[in-house]
Amino acid sequence: MAQIIIKTVRKEFGDFTAVRESSFTIEDGEFFMLLGPSGCGKTTTLRMIAGLELPTSGEIYLDGEEISQKPPSQRDIAFVFQMFALYPHMNVRKNLSYPLVSQGMARRDVKAKVEEVAGILGIQDILNKPVGGLSGGDRQRVALGRAIVRDPKAFMMDEPLGALDAEFREHMSEELRALHDRMGATTVYVTHDQLEAMQMGDKIVVMNNAVVEQFGTPQEIYDKPATMFVADFIGSPSMNFLRFDGAVAENAHNVEMNGQTLAVPRQMEGSRGRLVFGVRPEHVTLSDSAEYRGEVLATEYLGTTQIITLDTPNGELKARVPAGQVASVGEKIGLGFNAQTVTLFDEATGAALR
Ligand code: ATP
Repeated sequence: MAQIIIKTVRKEFGDFTAVRESSFTIEDGEFFMLLGPSGCGKTTTLRMIAGLELPTSGEIYLDGEEISQKPPSQRDIAFVFQMFALYPHMNVRKNLSYPLVSQGMARRDVKAKVEEVAGILGIQDILNKPVGGLSGGDRQRVALGRAIVRDPKAFMMDEPLGALDAEFREHMSEELRALHDRMGATTVYVTHDQLEAMQMGDKIVVMNNAVVEQFGTPQEIYDKPATMFVADFIGSPSMNFLRFDGAVAENAHNVEMNGQTLAVPRQMEGSRGRLVFGVRPEHVTLSDSAEYRGEVLATEYLGTTQIITLDTPNGELKARVPAGQVASVGEKIGLGFNAQTVTLFDEATGAALR
């Protein structure tokens, strides 16, 4: 069991900064996602927690103890790699026993522990099989078993399902999450797949360009994105950005956007910046009476819903509406937004205004 605190951690490789002053806390027992595009610094962050890289500055705490400069062997953290390394010439039982035998555990205890872990993973019946002939799923389970047998304080997983095809990947991600819920061990999981992060994670850190953009529950990140990057990265189709010159009058508490009244955050009052209205596709409604109109460019049928792409005076917009609503290409349609669901951003900084 472990709480992990990352405090203003920075990592440089020569002149290159891979992680900039990152801070967040992973609570005991959480399934915690590090999410972001390729090269943003997720793996480097994970490797610093495990001790495979040392931070250039900042501190990492495991259960209150500073471990920033400790070698991996003194951290009691298991690292599950993308390419699961099993010993091909050994059977499943030997693969699972090896980490314990090399620690000097007594034979009888090793046997009991291996059987317990095999039970947790549902692989009791393949213990005597060579790993060479196993299915992908069983190999994955054995690899996880090798990490679990040592009873580490926390698990680090770097895109463990990255090499699997979509269907199998979904199955294994459910299995992993269920396994976590049974064992309750703190798990930090790197992925660039926003859907996987939303589905599996208790909390998510979203990184971009070596910087932590936001840290919160999947719902907080989806409903209240802190930056335009997060708003764009999470959700499919992603949030719409409608741009307009937001010369907001001094002491104006509301701004009119083509018939919609939106409350202006205090810090924007009197400012002359360019405002961006962020609205999720499912929060756009088609309404004959609305003054604000867009021309239908395309429709995409998805069964129960459809995605309609429109050209509006403030940029292109995607609306997710019930499949039964009629919208033909070329038609001009009235659009409604609920002010409650709109996030306002300052275009200059990309930050959400609250
Ligand atoms: P990916 O999903 O592609 O692995 P990532 O978000 O995990 O991306 P990192 O692997 O943490 O990103 O890498 C962040 C940046 O740091 C990349 O530009 C990478 O090239 C660089 N980097 C990582 N390790 C080293 C190293 N040992 N030496 C120099 N540069 C490195």
